[in-house]
Amino acid sequence: MLNKKKLVDYKKVLQSRLSELLNEADRTVKNISETQGETSSDPTDQAVLELDRNRLLRFKDRERKLIRKIEKALNRIEDGSYGGCEACGSPINEARLKARPMTTLCIDCATEMESEKAKSKLFGGESTLPDDAGEDEGDDEANAV
Ligand SMILES: [Zn+2]
Repeated sequence: MLNKKKLVDYKKVLQSRLSELLNEADRTVKNISETQGETSSDPTDQAVLELDRNRLLRFKDRERKLIRKIEKALNRIEDGSYGGCEACGSPINEARLKARPMTTLCIDCATEMESEKAKSKLFGGESTLPDDAGEDEGDDEANAV
């Protein structure tokens, strides 16, 4: 398993990533409220503003997911379960942890879950927009080492 020094390193990485995200989320929220404050008589402008806001909200949703993952990983560092796969309990490959310190699954389980997700989409799950495929890091687990 991971030694203490490594855990501290991962913790630092996760914490700085988390504060980056929180800053970013802060800015996004400010952007949204500024946009909302703008008044325009031109209906085209209104539509553009609306579009922007939707995009921002979706972006924020991804961030939120990532933030939750990082917080979970930090909790796992605290309780000593960090570095082990949440699903099967085997140690997570260190190269994978380095590339994706917030992951809680080993590559096998992550790959399996990805294909489960793909299946549920295929068999008429939610009708997601195509850009959903380009999720930020944290969601495309299976693409990691
Ligand atoms: Zn596993």
